[in-house]
Parts: sequence; structure tokens; C-alpha cells
Amino acid sequence: MHDISYHLRAQQAPMKAALIELVRIPSVCDEGAGDYPFGKAIDQALRKALQIAGDLGFITHYGAGGYYGYAEVGEGQELLGILGHLDVVPPGKLEDWTHSPFDPVESDGMLYGRGTQDDKGPMMAALFAVKAMMDAGIHFNKRIRFIFGTDEETLWRCINRYKEKEELPGMGFSPDSRFPLTYAEKGLLQLRLEGTNESGVILSGGSAFNAVPDAMLYSGERQDELASKLDELGFPYRKQAGGIEVKGMAAHAMIPEEGINAIARLCMALQAIGVESKAINFIAQEIGEDPNASKIFGDCADEPSGKLKLNVGKIELGDLEKIFIDCRIPVTVTKEEVVTKLSAAAVKYGLEYKEFDWLAPIYLPLDHFMIETLMKVYRALSRDQVSQPVSSGGATYARAIDNCVAFGALMVDELLTEHQPDERVVLKNLYKAMEIYAHAIHELTS
Ligand SMILES: [Zn+2]
Repeated sequence: MHDISYHLRAQQAPMKAALIELVRIPSVCDEGAGDYPFGKAIDQALRKALQIAGDLGFITHYGAGGYYGYAEVGEGQELLGILGHLDVVPPGKLEDWTHSPFDPVESDGMLYGRGTQDDKGPMMAALFAVKAMMDAGIHFNKRIRFIFGTDEETLWRCINRYKEKEELPGMGFSPDSRFPLTYAEKGLLQLRLEGTNESGVILSGGSAFNAVPDAMLYSGERQDELASKLDELGFPYRKQAGGIEVKGMAAHAMIPEEGINAIARLCMALQAIGVESKAINFIAQEIGEDPNASKIFGDCADEPSGKLKLNVGKIELGDLEKIFIDCRIPVTVTKEEVVTKLSAAAVKYGLEYKEFDWLAPIYLPLDHFMIETLMKVYRALSRDQVSQPVSSGGATYARAIDNCVAFGALMVDELLTEHQPDERVVLKNLYKAMEIYAHAIHELTS
């Protein structure tokens, strides 16, 4: 490839300016607001991204009433996809931020703001990398399409709609992770186990499928017995006005072993004192505090992606009993195997399996051409010769199409601040990512 370093440098300032414009739009999912699928701000962010790309010379398309958009350049039959998202998670407590989350500030070589790491910064780095290549007169033998999703942080309705309606790239990458690259992501199954409540026990707690519950309140009648059982089991708790609160520790459902599941602990203690129900017994006897639920699944693991992980994130005992479960499945294990075992265990307690959400795994063998190409480029430009492709329990759009991996843009030594207060990106790293993306795209399209 001709020397494009001049053109890459020339795109640094415009890339930063475009990123600042995008971060100024607080594109948090706001369903039901106006005539937009995910709210007005997300629509503005989508239109802004397409306008930025259009100004750079891309052909753009605003898709399906605002579910997604794309920007394309190049020629040829084959299509390379670059998949990312424009929605962001809420900022949380504003007082935890040094700078306002939606008014980007540059300080100490870093740009602060929600979305600078996840995922507006990486997408702009890749987009302007292609602009630099266009300015350098590089010819693309494939079409390059940037696909902008709008509800990645929630339910992926955007990318699913894209897949129904649009041409699928034959290969691609998602700049929504860390360098070097992620080649395996576990299957992600979220489900409920349900049955009628014949126990008379009323209980409710936990907040989300994918979070280990850090507290669980019991306000029934057997509080004294429960307290002595918790003491006996060594499970910390607190007596309060409303009842007894069993303490846990929060963690993400992809690493439940780093947390303490308050629902599991309460159910184990309740069952031990004879406060029983379908859900309580199921959790106490079949899962307990085992993050791998080995009693149900046996030793379910594989070499590329490790062990199956299971998290009970929520429970509701009202007219119905409902257990909300998040399950991360090793890449070589089928969903059907897991569902069969889980349903068989549940049915013994009178509980029925109900699927909520399923994201298929990704797994590319290490000698796959995408991995070899991207690793070669990364090693040549980053001087990092030691980092290996990684496997993850998380989820990126890399799952959405075949022959796709998550690639950057966070450098190996950069602090992960996505989803946190003071989200920020190191600008010189983002410029390095631009360079890596340019060379990678060149390799994949020439
Ligand atoms: Zn992301």
C-alpha cells in the first residue's frame, strides 16, 4: 500500500471533531418516545453519523425507520462489514463524573464523555481510517460497509432488523472490544422457569438477568428461624424494618463466580428451615452457589471458551413462580443440549422452561484467515507481540454475521472505562487504532 501516514495524520483532527459531535448527542435508549424506535436522541445520533459519513464521500442509507443505518464505499461483489453501535448506556449518577458525560472535554490527552470508548470512538476511528485511504487514492476491490446499530446495549432489535432486510457481509469485524481480537464469544441464553405458585410464599428480588443480585429481602413470618439458619450457614444478613436482607455481592453474569448470589443464599436458607416452593427448592437443590450449575450440566466446558456459567438474576413469587436465568454456553456446546438438561431438571419441580433471548456464539478457529490477517496487521503496527486472541463471555455484533470477530479499539494497556463514570479514551491510542484499521481494511479488501 502507498504510504498513507500523511493522510491518516490529516484525519486525526476531523475524526476527533466528529466524535465530539456524536458524544454531544445523549443517545440512551428511550423507547416509546415519539415516532422513533428507540427515542429521538438515538435517531439524531444515527442521522449525524450518516451525515458525517456522507460528507466523507460514503453512500449512506437510513434503514427501516431508524432501526439502523449504513455507509458504503468501494466496488466489487464482496462485502466487508464493520459493525458497531451508536446507542450508549445511561450515565448513572452525574456527581460521579469529573466532566459532563455529554459535553466532551479533552484533558491530559484523553477525551471524556459517554460513548468515547463504547462505541462511538472506535466506529469513528475506523470510518476516518477509510477516509484516509480514499484520500490516498487506494482502490478497494470489495465494498466496505459500516453498519450502525442503535440498540446494542439493550435487545439488538436493530441488527436483527438489518439481517432481515439487508445484504449480509461475507466477513467483517466489530470495533467494540479490545485489541488484539476476540475470536470466541459464548452462546448467551436468557430464560425464565415458571410454574403456578401453590406455596403461599411471596418473594421478589434481583434486578436483571445479567447481574448477580447483591441483596435479597425476606419479609415472611419465619424471620427468627431464618436468622439462625443464616448464622449457621455463615451467610451475612441484616435485620431491617421490612424483614431480613441477605447480603450478596454484585458481578456481571459472565463472571458470576466473582459475585455472591443473594437469591441463592436466601433460597438455600429458606429451604433448610422448611419454607419451600417450586422455585426455592429448585434453586436450593439444583444450583445453590455453583456458578457452573454442575449438578444440572455436569462438567460443561470446552478448550476455546471455558466453563458454562449460570446466574439466577431475579426471582418473583406471586401468583406464579418465576426464576430469571442468564446462561453463558461454551462455543462448542449446542443450545439444545443446555435447554434439554435445564428443562428436565426444572420439570421435576413443576417448572416450565420459557426462552427470553438467545444470542448464538461466535467461534473462529485460530487459523481462520480473518484471525491470521488481523493478528498480522496488529502485531506489525502495535509492537505488541505477546497478546493472543481472546475468548469472552460478553457479546458484540461480531456474532451477527459469519466470519466476523471483535477487533479493538481499546489498546491492551488502556483502562476500561465503558459503562462507567468518566468514560474516556486516550486520543493517541485512538489514532493508533485508525492506523491499524486502515491497514487491516486494506489487507481484507485488496
Ligand atoms: Zn459496545
